[in-house]
Amino acid sequence: MSAAAKTLIQTPLEALERHFGHRAFLDGQDRVIEQITSGKDGLVVMPTGGGKSLCYQLPALCFEGVTLVISPLIALMKDQVDALEAKGIAATVINSTVPWEEQKERLNGMQSGKYKLVYVAPERFRAESFLRALEGIEVSLFAVDEAHCLSQWGHDFRPDYMRLGKALEKIGQPQCVALTATATPTVRADIMKVLRLREPFEVVSGFSRPNLSLSITAVEKKAQKLDRVKAIVKEHKTGIVYCATRKKVDEVSEVLASWGMKAIAYHGGMSDQQREKAQNIFLQRKADVAVATNAFGMGIDRADVRFVIHYEVPGSIEAYYQEAGRAGRDGEAAVCELLYNYADTRTQEFFIDGANPGAQAIRDVYQYFIDEADDDYEVHRSIEDITEGAGLKNSMAVSSAVAALARAGYIERFDIPGKRLRGTRLKKPQVSAAGIELDEEALEEKDRRDREKLKAMVEMCYARACRQQWILEYFGEENADVCGSCDVCCDDGGSTRAATEEEHLIVRKALAGVARMSRKSSVGWEGRFGRGKIVMMLTGSRSQDVIAAKLDQLSTYGILKELGTGYLNSLFRAMTDGGLLRVETGEYPLLTLSERGDRVMQGSKSYRLVWPSRTEGGPAVVEGLEDQGFDPQLFSILRDLRSKLAKAESVPPYVVFNNKTLEALARYQPSTRDEGLAVPGIGEAKAQRYLRPFLDAIQVWKKAKS
Ligand code: ADP
Ligand code: ZN
Repeated sequence: MSAAAKTLIQTPLEALERHFGHRAFLDGQDRVIEQITSGKDGLVVMPTGGGKSLCYQLPALCFEGVTLVISPLIALMKDQVDALEAKGIAATVINSTVPWEEQKERLNGMQSGKYKLVYVAPERFRAESFLRALEGIEVSLFAVDEAHCLSQWGHDFRPDYMRLGKALEKIGQPQCVALTATATPTVRADIMKVLRLREPFEVVSGFSRPNLSLSITAVEKKAQKLDRVKAIVKEHKTGIVYCATRKKVDEVSEVLASWGMKAIAYHGGMSDQQREKAQNIFLQRKADVAVATNAFGMGIDRADVRFVIHYEVPGSIEAYYQEAGRAGRDGEAAVCELLYNYADTRTQEFFIDGANPGAQAIRDVYQYFIDEADDDYEVHRSIEDITEGAGLKNSMAVSSAVAALARAGYIERFDIPGKRLRGTRLKKPQVSAAGIELDEEALEEKDRRDREKLKAMVEMCYARACRQQWILEYFGEENADVCGSCDVCCDDGGSTRAATEEEHLIVRKALAGVARMSRKSSVGWEGRFGRGKIVMMLTGSRSQDVIAAKLDQLSTYGILKELGTGYLNSLFRAMTDGGLLRVETGEYPLLTLSERGDRVMQGSKSYRLVWPSRTEGGPAVVEGLEDQGFDPQLFSILRDLRSKLAKAESVPPYVVFNNKTLEALARYQPSTRDEGLAVPGIGEAKAQRYLRPFLDAIQVWKKAKS
């Protein structure tokens, strides 16, 4: 039903000019609006400030009838409506702060076509009366803003959002579009399920931060970490050092002080006043370095942050990118460096244990409250006391258990005047520990997902693949290009490149072979064999081991026979470095697919490898760029062309091609699209967008010279 074409009363571009005074769409908006106006359900993921509101406001103005917008924050809704009204667009808001009589008035107004946009608070869908009132109204578009709120795995779950699926059904399943800035695959899947989107389009856009140079440095010892910190602070002056624990914050900030560097320390263990003071010192530029835990960041708006250091590995790619993203908000170049040491993942595992106490621990804590409660059903004990009394070890897990009990309505927490600890009151003292209802499956699921996120973060640390591209892929952005400025891009000196059709097929066959010899469980791929065995299987070896393990009966047996063992071994090494394969260390190293490898097996082409050389044939590779000669005149022609294109699109020049790519173009002088694709920094997307005029300019220059 949803894809039924609607009549447009004006085109999106007309509406953009007329109502908003903008002349062009921001990146991604045009794709989204085209899909919505063609009648499709969809999911839009863009970072904050990416221009999401326009994605539904504009179609609302092109459609006949009214668009409902679901938004969780009452204050923001009011701002949006005021801004629309100021532009002469008929809009209003319905939430529980509006008296019911007035709500009815506005509902009537909706029916009579008085409004183009109506913002509704999700809690309204709790009321039967409201749903009934909606029934008669023809809704042309149902837009759900901040849609991640409906995912239990998001950071901002709101139960009212779960009702939206039902509400949609009640009003006859109008076209529906969901928007969010939180884009992990699980959250996206949840959104599509709860809202029952029908063959939805998905647009993920705008996450790339071309002015950031991301790097991950493997460090063995503390002294090495401190050396990096010193060098980065000296060179880049203004920035943030993120540490995993409060203790580390104190330690590192003291070391900085001993070097005579002025830094503030910031973590959740400090009092509100202490934190505010530290934050102000940083914001007012009286100190240029902040050493902090992840408590630091919300509302920290210093645009000139030139570096972000992660002193330890964070718990997820989401957390990493959010924190790294605090660098370079002014659009100027900035560096982000993660100091990676495997031992630090233990700290993150400890946090995951603490955040996921498990059903038994929750019951143990509850039992402790029952045993200790006074006649008013109150318990005045610190978390440490509760931990010991309940026979548990991890006090963070006890805090999480207490929070879970409070959320489920079994207890409430209150301040005790004059004391630092908080009290607990049993709200349903008749319920026994065995009788409390817990969604154990959901608890386990969350634990599992937290561990998966950490695994994805660690996987990225080991991959020798463009950091930016890796992250964009993780968030679901398709056809992301390599950035040309991360440690891997800079280090490979142009030796990686995309696959030819033939190579892509070989890689997919190899991956299929690895898959046959791995196990897929709920936590992803698990290895069962080492590289040697897998290569023997793929080359059709008749060795005793292979036959005994019945590997000759696999459908992938011998499918890469013609390539030979030597080449395949090199290819497997390249695929491991490129992050397509993952080695699980144990007694024997076992080889299996990474998430990225899984995607490539299914057809994704967004990877680059340092391809091993083949004895015969094989595609052309850009090699030894330095030897290719450099013509400053051509370079300056290409640079002018770049400025022109950048200006036309109102983007900084490096978004078109960075300097390194430009230099490579000048040296290599490609004349065809395929040759252009072999230049580092040019992937499918960039080639499509920008390559043509450069090829032409190179042609013209070559002709003039000859
Ligand atoms: P989000 O909801 O994704 O956080 P907004 O919708 O608030 O982002 O938009 C961010 C800013 O970008 C706003 O100031 C908005 O006016 C501006 N903006 C949106 N679309 C365009 C456009 N096509 N041209 C210029 N500015 C735009
Ligand atoms: Zn890169």
